Amino acid sequence: MSVRRLIVLGLALAGATAPAFMTEFQLIQMNYIGMGALIALGLVMLTGVAGVMSFGQQVFAGIAAYATAVLTLQYGASAWTGLIAGLLIVALVSVFLGLITLRLSGHFMPIATLSWGLAIYFVFGNLDVLGKHTGLSNVPPVSIGDIALNRPGLAYYLIWVVLIVLLVACSNLLDSRSGRAIRALRARAAMAESFGVDVAQMKLAVFVLAALLAGLSGWFYAHVMGFVSPTAFNVQAGIDYLFMAVLGGAASVWGALAGAGILTVVKIHLAGWMPAGAGTSGNFEIVVLGLLFLLVLHRAPRGLTPLVAGWLPAGSPARTVPVSPVRPLARRAMPSEATVLEVSGVTKRFGGLVAVNDLSFEVRRGEVTGLIGPNGAGKSTMFNLISGALPRDAGEIRYRGERIDGLSPARIAQRGIARTFQHVNLLGRLSVLENVAMGAHLRGRCGMLASMLRADRDEERRLLAEAMRQIERVGLAQQLHAVAGSLPLGQQRLVEIARALCADPGLLLLDEPAAGLRYGEKQALARLIAELRTEGLSILLVEHDMDFLMGLADRVVVMQFGQLLTTGTPNEVRVNPAVIEAYLGAE
Ligand code: ADP
Ligand code: MG
Repeated sequence: MSVRRLIVLGLALAGATAPAFMTEFQLIQMNYIGMGALIALGLVMLTGVAGVMSFGQQVFAGIAAYATAVLTLQYGASAWTGLIAGLLIVALVSVFLGLITLRLSGHFMPIATLSWGLAIYFVFGNLDVLGKHTGLSNVPPVSIGDIALNRPGLAYYLIWVVLIVLLVACSNLLDSRSGRAIRALRARAAMAESFGVDVAQMKLAVFVLAALLAGLSGWFYAHVMGFVSPTAFNVQAGIDYLFMAVLGGAASVWGALAGAGILTVVKIHLAGWMPAGAGTSGNFEIVVLGLLFLLVLHRAPRGLTPLVAGWLPAGSPARTVPVSPVRPLARRAMPSEATVLEVSGVTKRFGGLVAVNDLSFEVRRGEVTGLIGPNGAGKSTMFNLISGALPRDAGEIRYRGERIDGLSPARIAQRGIARTFQHVNLLGRLSVLENVAMGAHLRGRCGMLASMLRADRDEERRLLAEAMRQIERVGLAQQLHAVAGSLPLGQQRLVEIARALCADPGLLLLDEPAAGLRYGEKQALARLIAELRTEGLSILLVEHDMDFLMGLADRVVVMQFGQLLTTGTPNEVRVNPAVIEAYLGAE
């Protein structure tokens, strides 16, 4: 048995028997930790993973707590009815707040969470029906059958079983198709969109998930404490929860538990640890916690979990890997039209600069079309226009005869266009396998709930098998589990290509795929591209290495200053005086 397993088993045993040896006071602390960890878990997903900072999670706890208190006290409902009603209200409120908050950018988003945090706290403290500043007391305990969980040692079991189930569920979620999309939200949203992720919808889903976790915590709070008052849900509490998430390590679900544990214990004992005469007022506590916060951000910006994980023996990569043969994913039919892509009169301006100027060209079926031109000619901008990453100012782009200009990147990906990025756009901390599997996002169906329940494993194995196939294809089989960010740049480009192939495209856009590759790697890449063409794939290729490009392309489009200079076969283009002039002039 591995050391890790032994540790987990020991902890589980200690946890299960805790009420036998812990004092009532300690059990109350454990319940606090569990309730805090639920909110922190939501923040790990929302802030740590998805990059959305919220100071307002306590509001959702408050809403569910007040909802269940009012229902049980004033309407005689059971706590379970209170739970369902509370979570429903939290879901509705969080969808509403999410819709208005998540579209804000930069600092405005956390500020918005602060402001509704303050506003709703004010509502809690001023509504008669909610007991104003004194709140509501004598909230009944939760009952399971005939057993009322009216002692800390009983409530402890419910809180911790639910917490651990949800920790596992969230960890499952991160290790799935949806999880890959969620992890791309923070820094790679544009990439995720180009592979079909609806970024706005995904962010909202994570926001609602975090709110529901907070709501669940609030429901526990009301029934375990027996009262609800506004102070438990003020902005200070929101900052504490955020601190818990950061302290534990904002990108690790188990960090939520560690963070909640440390912060709860420190807060309870802080007054006792203070030198005599330092005062016992709450203000002092804020100063100490603030200093602690700074220390963590400074010395362990990724939280404490990575530090602790570094001391433990490494666990085996517990990810699902397709060992047995799996049913391959369905493939799309290759385009049957003679002209796959048609760009007509497209213009893109950046302020006064016309990056692409009235450009027209086409990509024919089963051909490699080279797009060349001096630096700054507008090639990458043209890629961004085709893939929908940028809106065009004029002109039309047709894929398989249908207009795609004006569609979102996710829609365009759905139609069958996949791309690589000139500046590699990978999730640096994830493995090559996970990065490439991202490309197959649209070939899976399972959502967040299925992933949490592990009902997605069959599909996940098929997605990963496809990713493995493409990784082998680009020659990176040895690097399957390597962290993508640790690879040399040339290999990172190959990961980009494998990811694009994973989307099973009908048109592949490659932006300088050979940059940074060594001679042998370039030859292998050229062979791969030729092979893809044989399979009927149409490819638009931007490349600076002329030998590489001219040896591959069936047709070459030459751009200069955003305009079309000429187009023709490689041999025609090579001897064209205007092209020679443009390149000599550039050099
Ligand atoms: P290429 O890929 O051919 O080297 P680009 O398409 O990257 O050229 O750039 C074309 C021109 O547009 C350059 O002058 C570049 O500085 C400018 N440009 C590209 N992207 C942006 C942007 N997002 N904002 C402003 N200018 C841009
Ligand atoms: Mg470029």
